[in-house]
Amino acid sequence: MINAHYIANQWQASASREDIPVIDPSSGETYSSIARGNAADIDAAVSAARQAVGESFAGPWGTLSALERSRLLAKLGVAVLEHHEELAQIEARDTGKALKVARADATALARYFEYYAGAADKLHGETLPYQNGYTVLTVREPHGVTGHIIPWNYPMQIFGRSVGASLAAGNACVIKPAEDASLSLLRLAQIAAEVGFPAGAINVVTGYGYEAGAALCSHPGVDHISFTGSSVTGTAVSKAAAERHCPVTLELGGKSPQLVFADADLDEALPVLINAIVQNCGQTCSAGSRLLVERSVYETVLAGLSQRFCELRTGPSALDLDMGPLINQKQQRLVREFVREAEQAGITVAARGQVVAEADSGGYFQEAVLFRDVPPDSRLAQEEVFGPVLAVMPFDDEAEAIRLANGTDFGLVAGVWTRDGARQMRLARKLRCGQVFINNYGAGGGVELPFGGVKASGYGREKGFEALLGFTTLKTIAIKHG
Ligand code: NAD
Repeated sequence: MINAHYIANQWQASASREDIPVIDPSSGETYSSIARGNAADIDAAVSAARQAVGESFAGPWGTLSALERSRLLAKLGVAVLEHHEELAQIEARDTGKALKVARADATALARYFEYYAGAADKLHGETLPYQNGYTVLTVREPHGVTGHIIPWNYPMQIFGRSVGASLAAGNACVIKPAEDASLSLLRLAQIAAEVGFPAGAINVVTGYGYEAGAALCSHPGVDHISFTGSSVTGTAVSKAAAERHCPVTLELGGKSPQLVFADADLDEALPVLINAIVQNCGQTCSAGSRLLVERSVYETVLAGLSQRFCELRTGPSALDLDMGPLINQKQQRLVREFVREAEQAGITVAARGQVVAEADSGGYFQEAVLFRDVPPDSRLAQEEVFGPVLAVMPFDDEAEAIRLANGTDFGLVAGVWTRDGARQMRLARKLRCGQVFINNYGAGGGVELPFGGVKASGYGREKGFEALLGFTTLKTIAIKHG
């Protein structure tokens, strides 16, 4: 049981004295609990963060040089590697994700800290040519206190990319993890204190989104909000922030397309197409959930996919199969509803994976489902399922492929499979999204690569050096010296 928040490097009981059960998605059983945070807890965390930054950046965290922040982040990266298996085990049980995915998440978490440790002291302003008699320069300054609202699908990775960058830029952070997956981040805050982060630099308040999350977004002491989650919640978060002119980065959902042309290397493409929807049981914002295939190779691609989909196995996280369970019962119902509705609408199931016999009947399991000939305007082709459900549809030419690919409200990422170099460039420019992958999908998730969306997938960029810019404000200083 962790019935407390981690504020100013200490466990602090929740003002509400109420708890939220922690449920193992592989069995449906409660095995722990977390504190139900509310506005008072958020207020305590924001105060701690403000004190760490200090008035005019004179606090114990605010006075640290970029080099000192960099060294602390580097230490945290090393500590994460030392606690790698522990963190992976916590995450796998809490989220239900297969152990290999949780281990990869812990590795990525360490890599984020390594990357932002290296970047912290390379963040600088410029001198600008201006009128004679002036010297004009820009400086990049931290916002002060940043709020981070984190979803349940990749808690450690999203903490790394958003909190890592914010700390590197010199902000103190208040983190509200998802109510379904808070344990790894509480442990991480404790590890950060152990490696020497000053009190208040990293504060974690657990709780429900409509309580603790909403309180963080509307708190006047928060200078920037980084939100990762659904488009619906993103709208609420940005409205609350707009009330007090607080800048926001929104990393939202997607319905990302992969486009397969007839000249593609299909042997190379097939396993990547499958992994793009199966990874983390389809609960990935950038999941490749729509597959557009040129008609002349449509049946060949479907045959290859169908064979592999039938072999996909879903089971308890600890068995480390192709997929673990979905995060919770609500998500299981949502995914099942999508599948049922599509079948009732007459959309053809080309193949289904299997839930293994060892799976507990109380777990939130969902087999992989492959739908073919999905009408582009159907709900299945337009809305984010957030489960292992792939919608496949044919196209006849490049123009139609682009129209279909761009034809949803979302615009997060896209994959293009073709050997034609000119087409690669055309598609890369014409697809409306934040990342385009040519003859790959996700590029291994590189922390160096700026990530974010357009349209209902959000705005602002995280990851890479670009994220550092978002966690700062630019000040222009003009000196008249004659
Ligand atoms: P969600 O929007 O329900 O919750 C995300 C977080 O917001 C949670 O911590 C939740 O407690 C909090 N929250 C809920 N209501 C709130 C409110 N009114 N005010 C403030 N905070 C509130 O999303 P989810 O179901 O946890 O995550 C799945 C969604 O996240 C999917 O749509 C997925 O595509 C998206 N996602 C996007 C990215 C990305 O980088 N673009 C990454 C991961 C997940």
